[in-house]
Amino acid sequence: MRMQLILIFAGTALFLFFIYAALVSLREREQLAAKRFLSGAVLLALLFLATAFVSFDGKAFVFSLLMAGLLSGILLFLIPNGKNRRYRQVKPEGRIDERDTMFSRNELMPDTENFEDYYRRNPEKKVLDDRFRKNKGLLQKGTSQYHPFYFASADASFETIAALRNFVNGTVATERIPVEEEEISRYIKNWSKKLGAVDCGITELQDYHIYSTGGRGERYGQKFVKSHRFAIAFTVEMNHEMIQTAPAGTVVMESGQQYLESGRIAIQVARFIRNLGYEARAHIDGNYEVVCPLVARDAGLGEIGRMGLLMTPKLGPRVRISVVTTNLPLMADKPLHDFSFIDACVQCKKCAEVCPSNAISFNDREIINGSLRWQINQESCFTFWTVAGTDCGRCISVCPYSHPDNGLHNLIRFGMYNSGIFRKVALKMDDVFYGRKPVPKPVPQKLQTI
Ligand code: SF4
Ligand code: SF4
Repeated sequence: MRMQLILIFAGTALFLFFIYAALVSLREREQLAAKRFLSGAVLLALLFLATAFVSFDGKAFVFSLLMAGLLSGILLFLIPNGKNRRYRQVKPEGRIDERDTMFSRNELMPDTENFEDYYRRNPEKKVLDDRFRKNKGLLQKGTSQYHPFYFASADASFETIAALRNFVNGTVATERIPVEEEEISRYIKNWSKKLGAVDCGITELQDYHIYSTGGRGERYGQKFVKSHRFAIAFTVEMNHEMIQTAPAGTVVMESGQQYLESGRIAIQVARFIRNLGYEARAHIDGNYEVVCPLVARDAGLGEIGRMGLLMTPKLGPRVRISVVTTNLPLMADKPLHDFSFIDACVQCKKCAEVCPSNAISFNDREIINGSLRWQINQESCFTFWTVAGTDCGRCISVCPYSHPDNGLHNLIRFGMYNSGIFRKVALKMDDVFYGRKPVPKPVPQKLQTI
């Protein structure tokens, strides 16, 4: 009788969990996952209930097997193993020149002084860049993902960001309000979240956070120096439904909107700090003096993953980042030093498999310019963007860490953080439930056009 009760209880609990997971998947438009969770619910219920109610030889043995399986699953999830003791990070030695980034190179106009100068110094890059210059380009008519509404919407966001660039810096109030480090740090974090940030972290500004030389707009060729002591990093969420459509036009629409959101938050916080009588500069899209993912990592917001982007604990790479640098006295956060992200990326490689331009490496991290990291082939990636007309985002959309921030996925994330064995199993299960190469989802119904 006790055996029967245990089986009914365990079977019902598993059945309900799988039904819950199926409903969550349906809401997330993950049809494959919903079907598989539903099948799992039925199979488990049948298995447990049949063992509870049907009499057969060896029932005690099957009962022991089921209980051992269930218990091992729970222990696998709960017992910490393979955590941060193997974490290894090598700090970058040099600084990145913004002129080498693809956005800067994309702005170089043939027959101009900057164009001639850049390719004189980097002749090997000319051949690579000539390839993307032959294509239509970002947000252009005639690209493979062209859609007049989505591209015009994205362009509207980028134009608004461009207008905001006038506000990244400004006058500092003459009266300086005395502040207490801990209190002002807590205030900025709480207020930025009220403004729409999902997370906010603080770090001491390092030389390697700062671009050596500006590469965009009027800042081209300008040498940057460290003039502030602290950097505050903000992350905002990119909508899951929109990112799932990658590389469609709706992705660049979402990117534009979240660059704008994160930039607006940085501008407001920088203005607030200047109102208190301290220097502050916002770093927003198209007007960065700092390398945002490195700042955000050191500010404790995540780790840099295989695709070279910041991987955050609750949203993975599905974020945009902005930064404020300042001389306001603040309390720096500790970096996460989270080995689980690095280990997951070593095993997973899903982004590398789906990347349409083969820009993401399948190898382990390597020392590049004194820093231990993965580096994507930025030329291949950007060349694909100029064919698609969007910023692609396929890698972000398939990442197992990009699932929505909800009970189901946070439970899995906890297990992946806590246990190396669970991490291995969860990554395999992600392929089973969501597909190894998930196909892009249709554009959200409200944005569909005829
Ligand atoms: S898809 Fe996999 S390998 Fe790529 S960043 Fe995400 S976890 Fe890492
Ligand atoms: S954005 Fe697209 S092309 Fe670029 S690395 Fe990611 S998947 Fe590859």
